[in-house]
Amino acid sequence: MNFTDIELIELMHKAGIRPSVQRIAILSSVFNTRRHPSAEDIFSELSPHYPSLSRTTVYNSLHALCECGLVRQLEIDGANMRYDMAPQKPHSHFICRRCGRIFDMAMPEGLSASAGSYEGFCVDCVDVYFKGICPDCKQKLTT
Ligand SMILES: [Zn+2]
Ligand SMILES: [Zn+2]
Repeated sequence: MNFTDIELIELMHKAGIRPSVQRIAILSSVFNTRRHPSAEDIFSELSPHYPSLSRTTVYNSLHALCECGLVRQLEIDGANMRYDMAPQKPHSHFICRRCGRIFDMAMPEGLSASAGSYEGFCVDCVDVYFKGICPDCKQKLTT
């Protein structure tokens, strides 16, 4: 799944956020890399191409993109906030304790994965996280 700049601009228009060049680049980084980047990851990926880009712009843009519902924050990594594409079907995440990569996983069976009302509780956010060792790191450990 890859989003062109045109598609990203259209999404931003629909979400009511102004598509500046830097915001498009930041959104593309979240949507197209699929690696759940941190703000720092995005900054180091983009700064060679956008010399005027500052960390503050990255943080502010991510904040704006979260506010308008295009991006969501993942609190899975204790050290850094990580970012994911918001409009996609509910899924859970696995973070590797060794390499820090985040993988998409299916929601555990039997879990209602959407916001709503449950026994009087109003749920507006569902995050399911798994932690452990990814297959790559596991292989490195055993060889
Ligand atoms: Zn790993
Ligand atoms: Zn994800």
